[in-house]
Amino acid sequence: MKNFDLAIVGGGPGGYVAAIRAAKLGLSVALVEGGDLGGTCLNRGCIPSKTLLKHAEVLNQIKEAGSYGITVNDFSFSIKEMINRKNKVVKQLRSGIQGLLRQNKITLYQGYGTVKDDKTISVATDKGEKNLQAKNVILATGSKPFVPSIPGLDKVTYHTSDTIFDIEEVPNHLVIVGGGVIGLEIACVFNSLGTEVEVVEMSERVIPAEDPDASQFLAKHLMAKGIKIYTDTKITGFNNAGHTVVKMEKEGKKLELVTDSVLVSVGREPNVIGLDELSVEWNGRFVKVDHNMRTSVNGIYAIGDLIGGYQLAHAASEEGILAVNHILGNINKKDIAMPRCVYTFPEIASVGMTEAEAKEAGYKVKSHKVELAGNGKAIASGETNGFMKIIAEEKYGEILGVVMVGAHVTEMISQATSFVHLEGTVEEMESMTFPHPTVSEALFESAAAWLEKGIHY
Ligand code: FAD
Repeated sequence: MKNFDLAIVGGGPGGYVAAIRAAKLGLSVALVEGGDLGGTCLNRGCIPSKTLLKHAEVLNQIKEAGSYGITVNDFSFSIKEMINRKNKVVKQLRSGIQGLLRQNKITLYQGYGTVKDDKTISVATDKGEKNLQAKNVILATGSKPFVPSIPGLDKVTYHTSDTIFDIEEVPNHLVIVGGGVIGLEIACVFNSLGTEVEVVEMSERVIPAEDPDASQFLAKHLMAKGIKIYTDTKITGFNNAGHTVVKMEKEGKKLELVTDSVLVSVGREPNVIGLDELSVEWNGRFVKVDHNMRTSVNGIYAIGDLIGGYQLAHAASEEGILAVNHILGNINKKDIAMPRCVYTFPEIASVGMTEAEAKEAGYKVKSHKVELAGNGKAIASGETNGFMKIIAEEKYGEILGVVMVGAHVTEMISQATSFVHLEGTVEEMESMTFPHPTVSEALFESAAAWLEKGIHY
């Protein structure tokens, strides 16, 4: 039986990143992957969705070309070509990961792993069962779409995020069950492709975990693009009547939607396949860990979607690095600066605490919001829908959180992340020089306005 310093189960952004970091720091590493390298993020998540969102953005630009004085007389698109391009992007990135594993001399076991005890893993490969041993184990098995038991759902054809990115025809009508990040990103793709999209959300607002101003702003703009949003609405059942009938209830009133396609996107549940022989402590459905990613079993770590929390690819990667740090004898410091991005039209990007979280944590906070409507670059680009908001501790101005809404704000949040990570203040942000004309100047304006010395606001 082969022996390693570290064995990792799951080759998503949590597992493969941990494997490379550990190998670079001198550990012998085995990586066990039952599906495709890159996990959900690369194969069924971040990358497929962002590739198709780019296609949607190009289509939107063509449709809006008239407002820039450009006449496009005719255009067409092929969903088949779009999916082909998405597949090429995924393949290119997957072979990049394969190359990195080879380069770093990581032993890849292709097959589902079962963790037998704190040191032994058996892998079901094409060539039969293989066993390996390791001094430390990282569980990085990720998650899959959660499908709730709604009466009649099993009688209709529905998509989850696992299947929608391989769709062969553009539906005329799509009902999206769940107005979270995944549901709304997919709503934007299909709205741009010409599908009539209706989103049903049980909470009082879409993306309920995000800043209320951001989620309300987004809902308003999605509705202006023709996406219908039902909030405070519960789906009570489905009927198959040749077409799909979606039955729902809003404030005691019964409603029905008729559609040719349904996407269920109400959250994700952890992949626990191969973990049933393990006696780690659980936190509800997720594996319980401390801030060094240790489970209750010595030598076993868990990271990524399997432990719940943010359920983001970069969080999984960061947690993988924290686990490797700890295996190498370092103690990690808790970092609150986790950026969160929603790639809708407009985008939302945020970092640190929301205003409500900061107040709950005992801070006296002051926040300031600056609209993009007065920003030169945003006006020149015709992309003025959005705002930037700084949430800071009132007395010393420490930046606790930043929320951005607008085109391309996901590319700008890292600047705010640096401030939250380094415990920077509004005064320090205001003393920086921002390039002109950029949309990021709104961050400077927001800091200046927070200090009550704004130039344009
Ligand atoms: P995963 O990526 O799920 O990888 C786990 C891997 O483990 C899988 O490859 C699986 O095959 C393997 N595995 C499971 N059990 C076993 C076993 N017993 N043996 C061997 N292998 C096993 N996050 C972002 O940060 N940005 C985004 O834009 C974003 N967009 C998303 C869009 C969609 C539609 C979805 C669904 C998710 C998106 N996410 C995004 C979330 C992101 O994909 C996940 O947070 C991330 O993939 C979690 O990484 P992970 O390594 O924990 O698990």
